[in-house]
Amino acid sequence: MALLNADLHCHSVVSDGTLTPEALAARAAANGVELWSLTDHDEIGGQHRAAAAAKANGMRYLTGTEISVTFAGETVHIVGLGFDPDDRDMLQGLVATRGGRATRAREIAAGLAQAGVPDAYEGALRYVGNPDLISRTHFARFLIDAGVCSDMGDVFHRFLTPGRPGYVEHKWASLGEAIAWITRAGGMAVIAHPARYRFTANEEYALFLEFTTHGGRGVEVVTGSHTTAEYAQYADVAQEFGLAASRGSDFHSPEESRTDLGKLPYLPGQLTPVWEVLADRIL
Ligand code: AMP
Ligand code: MN
Ligand code: MN
Ligand code: MN
Repeated sequence: MALLNADLHCHSVVSDGTLTPEALAARAAANGVELWSLTDHDEIGGQHRAAAAAKANGMRYLTGTEISVTFAGETVHIVGLGFDPDDRDMLQGLVATRGGRATRAREIAAGLAQAGVPDAYEGALRYVGNPDLISRTHFARFLIDAGVCSDMGDVFHRFLTPGRPGYVEHKWASLGEAIAWITRAGGMAVIAHPARYRFTANEEYALFLEFTTHGGRGVEVVTGSHTTAEYAQYADVAQEFGLAASRGSDFHSPEESRTDLGKLPYLPGQLTPVWEVLADRIL
């Protein structure tokens, strides 16, 4: 079961990816993906399209999303898999989570204007596929194409991270809320790319403890956001906390993403894959 080409993390134009759900499905299938999930940020509007496209391309499908959460002053991402995409409470919760993005985008643009980059709000909007979901990634594409920055790493380093002129503090959903929306809709909550957070060992331990207390049951081990050493590190953490393990590229764009759909090592064999626990939720 560990030797399955599952890719359970990527983004479409419904959030901050550059491909449609249909184009992603075709690309995933061409890369050999057998089980796929589209996990747009704070948004499940693409799920029916993605499920249909998976079927048309001969792949099995798990519904997906990646919810922004504020925990210990840091933004943490919680992936939801295998939920009912028409669940009312979850849909409503995500509308509320997305709600602050427009105001935040205006504030990001104000910060960038002060740093000498005018009209960034209008600039970023040109890259937005879903008006409800303007993200830092859209600002980054504008800053690169305008010649202000050389690449994504440059943008985030100079402008869009804490302490930089285009960074705006934002309060997202709570950990408990995000896990409740997912699990009450029949799905599994999974901690996304745990190595990416700037937590102390104690804070990370608290995250995993609180996550499991609220009913979270999975963690990403093999992700495009982890190094090989981090695969091993979080394989141990998964076992320590009794969590199922997930695998996903976090693919956003052919031009920007280092890891293509399906192009990851398999999960370590000693782990329980999330798709084993979610077997009856697979479409
Ligand atoms: P937001 O949800 O608006 O805060 O935007 C977060 C998104 O920005 C993430 O999902 C990534 O796609 C992107 N991102 C964040 N940090 C970086 C980084 N250092 N390099 C490239 N992309 C990043
Ligand atoms: Mn993203
Ligand atoms: Mn993420
Ligand atoms: Mn992601």
